Amino acid sequence: MKDFIVLDWCVADICNMNCEYCISSDIKKNEPAYRNPNNKTVLSIAYRIKELSYYVKKITVNLCGGEPLLAENIDEAIEVLSEVSNIELVLITNFRLIDKIQTQLSKFKDLFISLHIKYRSEDEVTAMINKINKLQSGANISISQVDYKLSDKDLSELARINYSTNKSVNLQTYNIPIIDSDKHELSKYDYYKSPYGKCCLIGNMFFNISSDGILSFDLWCHKNDVSGKINFLRPIPEIVEIINNKKYFTCPFSYCPCNYNVTFHENYLAAMKEFETDEKMLFKWETRKKKAILMNQLNVLKIDNKLNLLEIKNLKEDLSKTEISFARLKKDYTGMKSTWSWRIGFFITEKLKYIFGWTPFLKNYLRNKNSDTNDG
Ligand code: SF4
Ligand code: SF4
Repeated sequence: MKDFIVLDWCVADICNMNCEYCISSDIKKNEPAYRNPNNKTVLSIAYRIKELSYYVKKITVNLCGGEPLLAENIDEAIEVLSEVSNIELVLITNFRLIDKIQTQLSKFKDLFISLHIKYRSEDEVTAMINKINKLQSGANISISQVDYKLSDKDLSELARINYSTNKSVNLQTYNIPIIDSDKHELSKYDYYKSPYGKCCLIGNMFFNISSDGILSFDLWCHKNDVSGKINFLRPIPEIVEIINNKKYFTCPFSYCPCNYNVTFHENYLAAMKEFETDEKMLFKWETRKKKAILMNQLNVLKIDNKLNLLEIKNLKEDLSKTEISFARLKKDYTGMKSTWSWRIGFFITEKLKYIFGWTPFLKNYLRNKNSDTNDG
């Protein structure tokens, strides 16, 4: 029995956004799975994952897409999966339909919100901020943005989100779509080191389920033609045999479109120990090239800078509000001083202070007088 597997369930391959850099944009055009998921299939897959939980110690189920919340009965699937103690649910969403599962958010371990900032109006960002702030007692919330052609306005909006939600925005290094990747503007070798010859747990620990219920195993990472495929709803022993396989792959590719071995690095290392693998063949926690890291850090600094400016602007506004209320207090005080009731009160208080100011002197005088009489 395996300790841990990750199931990437693309509940709906369709999406209500249309991002230029979408990792599955090419798949959308080429795959039959690019259609509305069927309610019955969604529920059958959820029950199958539940059944599978008896054969693996722990399963992380990433509900992703496309946009997973576009699946009509996603709430029923969440209900089924959240009942199982060894299943951890993760939702990866563009957040547009989050109200649909508002009451189920506490059932998720992690909620990953993908911003795609250039496709959102200022009003939508403000509405998102308000919703995120209301959600904060639920699942762990991470906000991320693909670091791709971000304009100055985009960076300002990211800083605004950071400032208003108190959550920093994770900038993800751009990963080009898998199919026809040569056609894309950036070279696939620009940002990532070659994984060739490294030990990979794709097909061993990481599996994919498409919206029409096809389980991809073996080398499913690159163009689906080299992967294994089986209907996930086939008799359970067939699925368990695939999931509990004892093999791993030595990567035959020079470019990696996924980051599973890095994201689940600790699980990866623990599993690879069993194979007594040479350390040189293992992935490190960072697979990006220096250029990608530096570009990423530069944008992080730009956002930080905008965040500082926003903080200063808001501090100044607070200060000017304090000055206004101080000026108002001063005006009220001056007005009050000119009223008769205040003048009479002030006169009486001053007199009383004067009279009681004599009290210590009188006490001393009387004490000294008494001691003189006694001595005499
Ligand atoms: S929101 Fe995500 S899935 Fe939808 S188009 Fe954008 S990148 Fe693709
Ligand atoms: S390309 Fe990436 S996911 Fe595919 S086998 Fe190589 S390292 Fe693994």
